[in-house]
Amino acid sequence: MTTKPLVVITGASSGIGAATARAFSAAGHPLLLIARRLEPMQELGLPDTELATADVNDTPAVAAAIARAEERFGPVDLLINNAGLMALSSVAEQDPALVQEQFDVNCVALMKNSQLVLRGMQERRHGTIVNIGSIAGKQLYADHTVYNGTKYAVHAMTEGLRRENAAHNVRVLLVAPGMVDTGLLGNTGEGDVLDGYLDYKKSIGGGLVPDDIAGAILTAYQLPQHISFREIVVAPTSQDA
Ligand code: NDP
Repeated sequence: MTTKPLVVITGASSGIGAATARAFSAAGHPLLLIARRLEPMQELGLPDTELATADVNDTPAVAAAIARAEERFGPVDLLINNAGLMALSSVAEQDPALVQEQFDVNCVALMKNSQLVLRGMQERRHGTIVNIGSIAGKQLYADHTVYNGTKYAVHAMTEGLRRENAAHNVRVLLVAPGMVDTGLLGNTGEGDVLDGYLDYKKSIGGGLVPDDIAGAILTAYQLPQHISFREIVVAPTSQDA
């Protein structure tokens, strides 16, 4: 039985979330993994792990999953708000449902799921929330208007949350990756926008791999509680934009 504290990761069925699950499991943490697809989380085959098939916007389902995992492993000490959606397009041509969904997944769920763990962390005066932002939360890119907006919001809310929780000794960290080779492009339809993105990605060597981001998150979390890497921007050295 593991003695390290419980780590909750949203969007753990692929990409950065799955790599982060592997990294924290290898470091001995029990996990609660949350995503809509169960099978890829099962395939990770990690010990001391609860799996929850839930939409991150289904707050009661996320709350129930956290309660179940805490019953088994004790209180959540780290929440990684990683689930995210990017659908690149000009605004004029974007499906309105995808405008809504990007804000719901990238922003609203991130705040509401943070609310589920914050009180406990404040009472214990211990805990960490990691929000996955993006380099697209720091600068604008063509055809990224809605995604840019969601990630700028993530950056602003993370800094606000950090300030609110400083006096409670609870850390709130932003991890803002540059280009990483994952399934994130899956919501951008075929055409010039996708081709342009893929061309740039190829020109810089394909981007980082999810394990690179997982390593950065683990390093930041493993610092003593009184040390906070407030913001980590981690991108390929070759990425110039
Ligand atoms: P992936 O598409 O590989 O992973 C996205 C994850 O989010 C999946 O596990 C997916 O699971 C989950 N997810 C999406 N919508 C929901 C939902 N409604 N409810 C629950 N889970 C959901 O992409 P990445 O690993 O790249 O993305 C992870 C994070 O990293 C995102 O926040 C993204 O914005 C950010 N990021 C990625 C960069 C990159 O270049 N790849 C760069 C900068 C930031 P499922 O479909 O099973 O629900």
